[in-house]
Amino acid sequence: MNGLLDLTINMKITDLNLNNQRVLVRVDFNVPLNSALEITDDTRILKALPTINLLLDGGASVILLSHLGRPQKKLTEDGNVNKEKFTLRNLVPHLSKLLNRPVHFANDVYGTEAVTQSLSLNPGDVLLVENTRFHKQESKGDLEYASRLAALGDIYVNDAFGTAHRAHASTTTVAKFFPRHRKSFGLLIDQEIEKANLLMGSPKRPFVAVVGGAKVSDKIKLLERLIEKVDKILIGGGMAYTFVKAKGGDIGNSLCEIEHLDLALEILSKAERNNVEIVLPIDSACAEGFHDNSPIFHNSSSIPGNQMALDIGPKAIETFKENIGNAKSILWNGPLGVFEFKHFQLGTFQIAQAVADATQNGAFSLIGGGDSVAAINQSGLAEKVSHISTGGGAMLEYLEGKLLPGLNAILD
Ligand code: AMP
Repeated sequence: MNGLLDLTINMKITDLNLNNQRVLVRVDFNVPLNSALEITDDTRILKALPTINLLLDGGASVILLSHLGRPQKKLTEDGNVNKEKFTLRNLVPHLSKLLNRPVHFANDVYGTEAVTQSLSLNPGDVLLVENTRFHKQESKGDLEYASRLAALGDIYVNDAFGTAHRAHASTTTVAKFFPRHRKSFGLLIDQEIEKANLLMGSPKRPFVAVVGGAKVSDKIKLLERLIEKVDKILIGGGMAYTFVKAKGGDIGNSLCEIEHLDLALEILSKAERNNVEIVLPIDSACAEGFHDNSPIFHNSSSIPGNQMALDIGPKAIETFKENIGNAKSILWNGPLGVFEFKHFQLGTFQIAQAVADATQNGAFSLIGGGDSVAAINQSGLAEKVSHISTGGGAMLEYLEGKLLPGLNAILD
């Protein structure tokens, strides 16, 4: 279906026969921890609760699988996994509180302890097993490792949208061991796909995309696909200046991917052929170097040689806001400037406000991509947009029209 997943062909979580079943659920509990190993943001755990509670209420027991951090990339000096730092055990107290019941923990992922504990679960019980990435086989999508994970449950549910683009053992391979009527997406993944399909499949028009972020090269596929779908693309962030330069502008020291100037021109002409208007920032907030100093404003195509553009300027903000205000469907991916700098966050936050306002006036808005999600959260407008994706890379790939291995595995 046009690069979009057909959600009518898979088993719904609500159709699964749950009573007395052990349900193996891949969640994304990759939460940030401070140096005392306390959770500093539990959003990801909160997002998984509806699925877990639905399964428990349906008479199942739940075995939770997740990764936490990158233990294989941050080995101890003697080359072992840093179990103390990356153990999921640190999550147990908070998770127990949120689920209002004790959460059992297995010190291994698939060994005797995990298997024995999973077999002794009663309906309503929850077992969290150790970090799936403690074993190298996880990221290799290893079949043998996946078969051991599969032995922990009678049913498999994938609700980890943030890792759905990875062909890992616990996100993808494990699903091979369950027949179609014994596996499904969780509520979170269902929502993500449903909202993305709504936007990319049957958008109300005008459909306006706002694309920002550092590099054009990261967004080429997205831009190419959007050109087939949207009415306008507003481009901001560092990537805008490769386009300005390709059109002959002077961009000073602004970010530029010289090797992609031709590609930028190709994208512009493809857009023109498809009657899609690409709006570049007419002016920019600049600084002498990558510093959080008071901005100096210039027309984006005449930036002095010693300066770099770090945000869209006031005229660009007005144009972008007007376009967003007229939209009925909005996709936003990537910040419009270096919003980590106090002096260069205005563009991003004004766009966040414009997307929120348009949504309040009836537009459908989807925010997909790590940094724009951070920006909308920081601006306090998260409740005022239609959907904020939990999967940065996964959502980007889905919007690009790629097949995500973790999603396809449920349909196989
Ligand atoms: P991405 O991960 O590609 O969405 O890029 C996000 C990063 O792009 C953020 O860390 C921003 O600070 C950075 N960024 C946005 N605009 C600019 C700009 N004009 N110059 C340099 N970096 C930028």
